[in-house]
Amino acid sequence: MMKSHAYENKDIAVFGLGKSGLATARRLQEGHARVSVWDDNEDRRQSASDAGLTIRDFQGSGWKGSDALVLSPGVPLTHPEPHQVVKRAQEEKTPIVGDVEIFLNEVPAGRIVGITGTNGKSTTSALIHHILEVNDRETALGGNIGTPVMDLPELSDEGAYILELSSYQLDLTPSWQADIAVILNVTPDHLDRHGDMSGYAAVKERIFQKQTADGVAVVNSDDVYCQEMAERLLKGGAQKVLPISTERPLKTGIYVLDGLLQDQTETGLGWSIDISDIISLRGRHNWQNAAAAVAVVRSLGLGNDEIEKGLRTFGGLAHRMEQVAFRDGVRFINDSKATNAEAAEKALASFDHIFWICGGIAKAGGIESLASYFPKVETAFLIGEAADSFAKTLEGKVTFRKCANLAEAVYLASEAAGKHGGEAVVLLSPAAASFDQFASFEARGDAFRGLVQEGGE
Ligand code: ADP
Repeated sequence: MMKSHAYENKDIAVFGLGKSGLATARRLQEGHARVSVWDDNEDRRQSASDAGLTIRDFQGSGWKGSDALVLSPGVPLTHPEPHQVVKRAQEEKTPIVGDVEIFLNEVPAGRIVGITGTNGKSTTSALIHHILEVNDRETALGGNIGTPVMDLPELSDEGAYILELSSYQLDLTPSWQADIAVILNVTPDHLDRHGDMSGYAAVKERIFQKQTADGVAVVNSDDVYCQEMAERLLKGGAQKVLPISTERPLKTGIYVLDGLLQDQTETGLGWSIDISDIISLRGRHNWQNAAAAVAVVRSLGLGNDEIEKGLRTFGGLAHRMEQVAFRDGVRFINDSKATNAEAAEKALASFDHIFWICGGIAKAGGIESLASYFPKVETAFLIGEAADSFAKTLEGKVTFRKCANLAEAVYLASEAAGKHGGEAVVLLSPAAASFDQFASFEARGDAFRGLVQEGGE
């Protein structure tokens, strides 16, 4: 595990003690920084204190000048307005950074691969990591997915760190520099934290900052914002730009049409593979993730057979169009991670005869943008706070039932799908956040899996 030495004898304040904050504070302390920490949650303060860290209330009179403030990505840096602690640090011109910044100041060797975008980051990051791992390449996966960066193992020069980065994390990583950087898409989601689309896109574009001639920028050329970025990058000429597409053939780059992935990179020239039968990569959105992953591993020097082996053995991630049961012609799909309409759209596009469980805390616009998929929905089962507003959107277009909770929705949807005859899908793809009924989207997906499996006994 990485010790942080770059901050030896420096005063570092760590605000926010989730998994990543706690890991950062511990590694900094092991590297002999003078660390003080705070979290509003008492239990978290207690775990930090048990780990031998010094607790200080930066929000009250406890704040004293520090050499850096390490902020959790969840704490507002700019929008809707800077957190009190951020304001204090800014007044004193204290640098405000995140754990990835600390990590980059330490990382001794290995290549840095960064993946960002509104949707598909985790799938793409996990797929890249999997393709490398299954071919015995040295790799470590972390950041916004799984392991906090400061808990990653130290790699050799041959290794590759696969880092999933949210826009919040990019915002807190001024020294970010990737050997290979990927942007998947930019759609309105976290505008509450970034103000407007151009602000949000500008932060995402920082995934490519400081790249040099050896660097590779993998850009989804089907996305307007990303395409604009590609044009700017090509003009700047700093790094190599590798476009991907699932809409049209490319002279250079990687594209997937009707499930056929075509590799038109320098090293893969002309190679192709049919990925339409890989269950974990179902749907055009996953073809996009696969194209991005192949662009990365190709740039890392993998050959055709290695890439094919990696793609074919990928198991997919939990809560993302995860098939949790298949009974009497009915598939049960857990897509709890779809917390917005754009994400739910991918699942609706991938299946037919859908018994759709949706609802929770709706994002702006609700499910209005999904109207063209309504004919694929047999019945919708509505849960949570959004039930009334979703019902209004569905009125006259889709039969729906309002349900008291997820258990009732699963029960009614299973019954209806069973009666439907022929192939059908019970799909939990909520198009809404989970926090009105569950602690997280994972808890919601786990509950769905449990209910489906109970129903099969
Ligand atoms: P993230 O880590 O960016 O949140 P995930 O890989 O966890 O993304 O996927 C979350 C959801 O987003 C998936 O369940 C799917 O519905 C949708 N999704 C996945 N990949 C893409 C993509 N390339 N483009 C658009 N939506 C996607």
